[in-house]
Amino acid sequence: MATKTIFITGGIVSGLGKGITAASLGALLKARGFSVIPMKTDMYLNVDAGTMNPFQHGEVFVTEDGAETDLDLGHYERFLDSDLSRLSYSTMGSVFQAVTEHERKGTYLGKTIQIVPHVTDEIQRRFQTISETAQPDFQIIELGGTVGDFEAEVTLEAVRQFQTRNKRDCISIHVVKMDYIYPSDEAKTKPMQHSVIALRRYGINPDILVVRAKRPISQDEKEKIALFCGIDSDHIISALDVESLYDIPLNMEKEGLARVTLSLLGIKESAPNLAELEEITRRTKLTEPVIRVGLVGKYTDLSDAYLSVIEAAKHGGIANSVKVQVVPVDSEHLNVQLLKEVDAIIVPGGFGTRGVEGKIKAIQYARENKVPYLGICLGLQTAVIEAARNLAGIKDATSEEFDEKANHPVIAFLPDQKGITRKGGTMRLGSYEAVMADSLISRLYAWWEDKKAFDFPSLDEVMKFKPVKTSLERHRHRYEVNPDYHKVLQEAGLRFSGMSPDGSLVEFIEYPREVHPYFVATQAHPEFKSRPYKAHPLFAGLIAAAKEQSQNHTTLAQMPVDSVQTVAS
Ligand code: GLN
Repeated sequence: MATKTIFITGGIVSGLGKGITAASLGALLKARGFSVIPMKTDMYLNVDAGTMNPFQHGEVFVTEDGAETDLDLGHYERFLDSDLSRLSYSTMGSVFQAVTEHERKGTYLGKTIQIVPHVTDEIQRRFQTISETAQPDFQIIELGGTVGDFEAEVTLEAVRQFQTRNKRDCISIHVVKMDYIYPSDEAKTKPMQHSVIALRRYGINPDILVVRAKRPISQDEKEKIALFCGIDSDHIISALDVESLYDIPLNMEKEGLARVTLSLLGIKESAPNLAELEEITRRTKLTEPVIRVGLVGKYTDLSDAYLSVIEAAKHGGIANSVKVQVVPVDSEHLNVQLLKEVDAIIVPGGFGTRGVEGKIKAIQYARENKVPYLGICLGLQTAVIEAARNLAGIKDATSEEFDEKANHPVIAFLPDQKGITRKGGTMRLGSYEAVMADSLISRLYAWWEDKKAFDFPSLDEVMKFKPVKTSLERHRHRYEVNPDYHKVLQEAGLRFSGMSPDGSLVEFIEYPREVHPYFVATQAHPEFKSRPYKAHPLFAGLIAAAKEQSQNHTTLAQMPVDSVQTVAS
């Protein structure tokens, strides 16, 4: 069949969960055996998300092919259990860039370049590229921003044109919210009526309304919305606030989102296979045992800066049948008391000097007190600095990122890396292969590769797996472990468990299990490849190690305060 296109727009306010709606619908269609490719189109003029501050905009999600994208692509990959490419992400900045590049090359043959048709055509070309290259049964296209935003107008016009050209193969879903008036708490539908009117003004008729609500929407309320918005009451899907994201696909299934989508597109309904989603939601509802994971990072009001790391930690909980609680630990003002209360520590990726010393202290704490530790990208680099300073005795060891004139740059900018500059939109990006040594990490990856393994066994059991020889992980960084210090770091006890194929770049480190129950770090971003259906092994292993330790009653909360004083100083 020709690819069917589902457009998802949002109304009234931002942050209603368009991305989760897109991802959930994708998961429900996939559960019926259809192939689905989602896409996000953002309205801002950045060419990609790479130069955007994650503390304002949320994390930068990196695809296999190295695109720096919006965090919604993370939701899509996790819910759909599939890897996306750069085709799934477009910004207005990249659209304009393409149009002006064509203009310079003379592609437009002397024409006057205009928003309509040149920009609108370029936007539609992107919608088409997905259906033409991968030919999925469905493409789900989420529009960033809110209907009514000035900057969304061009994209909405492109959507209108695309729908006109592909009438029978398109539907449109509008995500809105119920309003509740104070003090009666009465539900009000007027804002959503106006949002639907605003969307129609652009020539787009919503076929389905997804309504975020804090209480179930009654049939009477649905009838009222149906009448005023001119949409079938059966096509009004209530999306209740939930505790866990992973409840949403099943809630939407009950509300009939996939069934209505299929019937609108004239496709025969088939029974979905929801067993995996049901098992995931069952496990996310476990209330004990609780494993507390300290996430040592920079904190502002927006926690989405570490979204994929937090989700991956939860996946580790799913694989180990425990409840994972992520505890924010502010690296700028390190609270050692907080470290004593957690069962595992993660230092995630990051840029710049702020909070780095706190991260190094937290790592020293994890190493000395045998708290399970996972270091991600900057979390590997800071672990290397910690080892250099405290095990190899290089007291002023640091990274060139923090001090360009460092005496001992154990982490350095390697100038022969093609195209990577110290600032701007260049980095080592996307999937890279590592050659693995026989180690805990290579056995963790072996568990990951075992298609049948959903539950994580004990770490001792994992050590019985046959180690993998190579691994592939996504990268986003500029600095590397400085080859001049490889030898001294290894002699100090650090194990390099994975290297770039030419042996020059350190991809994974760990301390042997005889020295530490679980201390692993990677230069890559494993969180991007973790899925609720199968946790990433470095996260699953972390949670397993924490669980094993707490079962052995050696949680840090019970350790003498003395043992942590080195960190507090
Ligand atoms: N800032 C470090 C680098 O550029 C680490 C980057 C990261 O953690 N993603 O190498």
